[in-house]
Amino acid sequence: MIRNNVLLIMEVALATEFIWYVYRWFRSFGKKTSNARRAEKANVRKPKENISKVMFFSNEASLCRAHIISEETCLRDSCPVRYLREVESYINRAKRNLDVCMYTLTCQLLLNAIVNAHKRGVLVRIIMDHRMACNQEMQTGLFYNNGVPIRLDDLGVLMHHKFAIVDNDIVITGSVNWTMSGFFGNFEHLLVTNHCVLVQPFVNEFDKLWKIFSESSEKLQHSVQHPLIDESSQ
Ligand SMILES: [Zn+2]
Repeated sequence: MIRNNVLLIMEVALATEFIWYVYRWFRSFGKKTSNARRAEKANVRKPKENISKVMFFSNEASLCRAHIISEETCLRDSCPVRYLREVESYINRAKRNLDVCMYTLTCQLLLNAIVNAHKRGVLVRIIMDHRMACNQEMQTGLFYNNGVPIRLDDLGVLMHHKFAIVDNDIVITGSVNWTMSGFFGNFEHLLVTNHCVLVQPFVNEFDKLWKIFSESSEKLQHSVQHPLIDESSQ
């Protein structure tokens, strides 16, 4: 009788142990499946945002100058203020790199956006034309004073490009120099794209120019920081 009871207890214990193992196996299997699902979800990449934008500026753009400093909205299809703020927003979204290759650059809004990008840790590089950079209105000293790397064309030919590259991913290019007269009064155009077949040649060209103008930086730094002194001494 006692023996039968002992056997019964052992059988119950074994059955309980078996049920416990089965329960644990199902539980870990469920966990693995939900983890796999979560990992799968994380690995699904968002489709790349398609950026293809063309902006045209005209003589009518001067009518919008008045509302650049206000919060007013404008109903014009080609409002240059809206375009300018779009360009600023592309600069503001830079996370890693910002390369600017610009013949003339005096637009304070964009100058500030570039310097701010540098201040938040974006690797900023500026290429400009030597003669334009030494113009006292260029405020190129702003870049030097804030430690933004800048190289100048001193080869005796114009560095006439007007393009910028954000994170090696977005190109902003066109006829317009980044000046107030460029945005507010001239017939100009800008094109913004993130199509890699168009972006990559600009990335390569910028790298090439950065190397070509590598020796210009130090010897020209003083003349850019002190344009008036240099002009009077000539
Ligand atoms: Zn407007």
